[in-house]
Amino acid sequence: MMNKYAARVLDDLKKKYPWETEFLQSVEEVFASLDSVLEENPKYEKFRILERMVTPERSITFQVPWIDDNGEIQINTGYRVQFNGALGPYKGGLRFHPAVTLSTMKFLGFEQTFKNSLTTLPMGGGKGGSDFNPVGKSDREVMSFCKSFMRELFRHIGPETDVPAGDVGVGAREIGFLFGEYRRLANRYCGVLTGKGVGWGGSLVRAEATGFGAMYFVQHMLAMKGEDIAGKTFAISGFGNVAWGAALKATQLGGKVVAISGPDGYIYDKNGLDEEKVAYMLVLRASGKNVVAPFAEKFPGAEFVAGKKPWEVKVDIAMPCAIQNELALEDAQTLIKNGVEIVAEVSNMGCKADAVHALQEAGITFAPGKAVNAGGVATSCLEMSQNAEHTFWSAEGVDAKLHEIMTSIHEACVKNGKKGDKIDYVAGANIAGFKRVAEAMCAQGC
Ligand code: GLU
Repeated sequence: MMNKYAARVLDDLKKKYPWETEFLQSVEEVFASLDSVLEENPKYEKFRILERMVTPERSITFQVPWIDDNGEIQINTGYRVQFNGALGPYKGGLRFHPAVTLSTMKFLGFEQTFKNSLTTLPMGGGKGGSDFNPVGKSDREVMSFCKSFMRELFRHIGPETDVPAGDVGVGAREIGFLFGEYRRLANRYCGVLTGKGVGWGGSLVRAEATGFGAMYFVQHMLAMKGEDIAGKTFAISGFGNVAWGAALKATQLGGKVVAISGPDGYIYDKNGLDEEKVAYMLVLRASGKNVVAPFAEKFPGAEFVAGKKPWEVKVDIAMPCAIQNELALEDAQTLIKNGVEIVAEVSNMGCKADAVHALQEAGITFAPGKAVNAGGVATSCLEMSQNAEHTFWSAEGVDAKLHEIMTSIHEACVKNGKKGDKIDYVAGANIAGFKRVAEAMCAQGC
């Protein structure tokens, strides 16, 4: 039974936005964890913290016209949802994906608020993006789109206001085009975007940070049971930076990544990846074709399984690194049947709610994306610090700081999620993330 106040706010939200299913899913997941916090702090209801937390402080929707390679005008919709600024400038990525809607942006901005809070760094939560699909577009088309997108976005962002970054479909190339246009329009060279190229304001280790941070978190989860990554088998989904970083760090730490995936299916490699195979993940991504199949042609011993997800492979640790709701109940049931030990969500809300419940009921250690993937945004904040100081830190320095942040996020989850001899990482992450934002909102008044 959910706390009465939380249930009422959720109910009102469902009535108001019944079509925003992803957003409602993310709110329900957080609210379900807050019973004890809300009971112990009646002031949160008095200050109407929950109502305010589910309402973006500002939500911008705009037209993005651009010209394709045939000289035709194309129109997309752009968004920036500045969700909650109680802890610092709005911070969160931009997603370019054809399925993006305002509901996607709201769920991601809501999640981002608690994730950023968990890092304990000074960042509010925001998210943006567009229904533009970069797959199959030429560099010139992507540039034309990015420049047009920034022509509206630039008036809403700034290093002390809102600092976007990458997300699905937005990598170094897009950040470059976006930054170039911002610099021209604002006549300022500053840390207004993160994920910039190393050499023109970007931080070392930012590209690897989400995947590396996720693996440091998994190290801590295993350490709680006196275990280690070496010798463990992994299935990792996703076709971007995040999956690559996770596969690289798992391999470096002696783990065996036996399954990786792309939009066309998955690769099973019983020998596990080595650094050459991990590097090839980047080559596949750069091909712009969105297919993982050529991996099996290049590396004998690797098998391509068309149209399937990697969750049917028997592994110790499963890490969804692609997109929301990519791991369904049936996948969770297969993983349980095959004896999975840990499911560490790296994509934002990568698992459907019933899949998470099934894993938890079966006693599988599950950790949510907002804790596991927070190393990405945390390192973005380190990039902001370097930009503000007009300096660059060494890769070792950034990596050490990332390690420290992931350790403290894990500690916060353990402290707030302890239930008997088990850790409920979902509750731990939600409670720790929520408390900091709620306290800041109360202190700042209405
Ligand atoms: N898109 C990433 C996330 O979901 C990174 C955001 C950022 O670096 O601002 O956290």
